Amino acid sequence: MALLLKGGEAAAAMNEKTAARVAALTAAGVVPTLAVVRMGAREDDLSYERGVMNRCAKLGIQVKHCLMEADASQDQLLEVIRDINRDNSIHGCLLFRPLPAQINDKAVREALAPEKDVDGITDASLAGVFTGSGVGYAPCTAQACVEILDHYGIPLEGKRVTVVGRSLVVGKPAAMLLDRKNATVTICNSRTRNLPELCRQADVLVVAMGKRGAIGGDCVAPGQVVVDVGIHTDENGKLCGDVRFAEAEPVAAAITPVPGGVGAMTTSVLAAHVVEAAGKGI
Ligand code: NAP
Repeated sequence: MALLLKGGEAAAAMNEKTAARVAALTAAGVVPTLAVVRMGAREDDLSYERGVMNRCAKLGIQVKHCLMEADASQDQLLEVIRDINRDNSIHGCLLFRPLPAQINDKAVREALAPEKDVDGITDASLAGVFTGSGVGYAPCTAQACVEILDHYGIPLEGKRVTVVGRSLVVGKPAAMLLDRKNATVTICNSRTRNLPELCRQADVLVVAMGKRGAIGGDCVAPGQVVVDVGIHTDENGKLCGDVRFAEAEPVAAAITPVPGGVGAMTTSVLAAHVVEAAGKGI
């Protein structure tokens, strides 16, 4: 039986440290504050927002909502972002994406000040992930993958890691964060040949494909650590991942469950980023 890498456990350890930092900042007169910018009311956004609000409330982080109609203009959204940049009482900004069709995603992302980019959406933040310059923040999901591995003491230095997926939200930044841990990283995409072989070769397999149950037992090797980033709903309405858990779990040494794995950590990483940003201001 594989060890279950539980996001909730790793998150609890992280939240404890974050709460202590919030207490110290608040005592110094700084209340860590996150602006949440949402256009319209997509169910996915609302559900994540509830998780963020819950986490922030428990940690003493203030949330300021900037809610807009789904048909608001790009200029209106840019004005909201510029207001956030100017407001010294706001330390981080979470912008829900994808944005409606009338909005130029890149123009809006780039309008956000990198020091408030706690979800790693600006090019400056992504460059920071690549260079380790400390500008901006890593995308929360990508960092959550590494935090879970760290929490369970999974060694990465000198290990072979295969990352399936190369999105800017998960795959590529996760690969860069793992590279910074001195792992030897292979990044796979939809045109990769021999995917099962590349997966089996890895000591640690990180799957961020966005395809329900696409990774089966043929991709998992005995003794491997598997991190499943995917989140889907199966035909019975239950949450499941990119990995076929029932096939992978008996083979792997350790595996993140879905739900209760990477997804259970992302709001804690976001909260930690807000608090780090607030700490830089004093
Ligand atoms: P995405 O933007 O759709 O990217 C998927 C990546 O997988 C792409 O790079 C794609 O390659 C690659 N891919 C697709 N089919 C492949 C194949 N057959 N072989 C190898 N690579 C293949 O998805 P994402 O935003 O990175 O998200 C990935 C998953 O994570 C989704 O299920 C999403 O719901 C989940 N997610 C979870 C959280 C969380 O909190 N747990 C947060 C964000 C996302 P190409 O580049 O060649 O197309």
